Amino acid sequence: MKVYRLAVIPGDGIGPEIVEQALRVLDAAGERFGFRFDYTPCLLGGCAIDAGGTPLPEETLRVCREADSVLLGAVGGGKWDHLPGQQRPEAGLLGIRAALGLYANLRPARVFRPLKDASPLKNEIIAEGLDIMLVRELTGGIYFGERGRREQNGVPAAYDTEQYTVPEIERIARVGFEMAQKRGNKLCSVDKANVLESSRLWRETVTRLAPEYPGVALSHMYVDNCAMQLVRDPHQFDVILTSNIFGDILSDEASMLCGSIGMLASASLSGGSFGLYEPIHGSAPDIAGRGIANPLAAILSAAMLLQYSLNEPKAALAIEAAVHDALTELRTPDIYVEGCQKIGTAEMGTAIVERISRCL
Ligand code: NAD
Repeated sequence: MKVYRLAVIPGDGIGPEIVEQALRVLDAAGERFGFRFDYTPCLLGGCAIDAGGTPLPEETLRVCREADSVLLGAVGGGKWDHLPGQQRPEAGLLGIRAALGLYANLRPARVFRPLKDASPLKNEIIAEGLDIMLVRELTGGIYFGERGRREQNGVPAAYDTEQYTVPEIERIARVGFEMAQKRGNKLCSVDKANVLESSRLWRETVTRLAPEYPGVALSHMYVDNCAMQLVRDPHQFDVILTSNIFGDILSDEASMLCGSIGMLASASLSGGSFGLYEPIHGSAPDIAGRGIANPLAAILSAAMLLQYSLNEPKAALAIEAAVHDALTELRTPDIYVEGCQKIGTAEMGTAIVERISRCL
């Protein structure tokens, strides 16, 4: 039987509660599809600071590097807010992404039909559903470019630099093209090529690669237009490819269209099959320890892990189908509507496990 090695980082706040359910679901999927997991828990964020004084322990990096992939809950909380930047839990998060070379961020924005009413978009816009994959460059661009403060014409000034090299653009563009091939064969590359030189290089490079992916229909869109089209007609998009800063903003916009933060998964990939998978939400200290957190974003992150890192698409689909089915009658408080049964974190985990085992 195949055994996958997973580094598991529960983190802080609701992190341990939701990760526990995701692991139960992974085990159920393994049982049904003939594989199993060897989990190694590790520390990151606030709990790592409490245990050893640093948000990203060397041991955590070592375990992650030896694993097939990483599943992460969330980090952070008020307890550590007084610490200076580099010692805060969130520094552990940025540090692990950089140390593992995770340059491609995948963020699906998807509305499960039973949750259609949770979207802030009107029913007629969302009627055809919404299923977008946003591919964001994660380790380059303005967040990593040269920055500083200086005096200019006698007044204080500050600058940040957007820069991309051709290899950086090529590798993320290939992730975008390959993702489009696995989905609806449509790739929309988003830039600001009417103004920015770095965007012009981005557009040239993406266009040059297109003939290598003849089945994929490539289009280009300016980022301001994309922000508008996402709320006007999101159905037009299949895969969106974009830079670090544009992806940061557009992915939050796209995920908001889905209505609930407790439903949204993400993956950060490093080129091969290795990846780090985590819900997009934080550690939700306001509800931690109460057993009411929605575990579905963590569970759907586990499904992405099966699909993109472990090449177990049937298991991934079984989890998604189980989530879809459970949502028709069961809801955690964050997505509760009248007529459904309100349940807690562990009960939602159980509902998904049962449905996977029942072959739904
Ligand atoms: P948050 O995402 O933790 O919470 C925002 C709101 O959404 C809260 O009301 C919370 O209760 C709710 N929520 C979030 N996840 C939920 C879930 N699964 N089920 C039900 N409700 C859920 O954002 P925040 O409050 O701004 O941040 C809290 C802490 O998390 C901060 O320390 C922040 O730095 C950290 N954070 C971590 C990550 C990460 O680990 N990737 C991401 C964002 C924020």
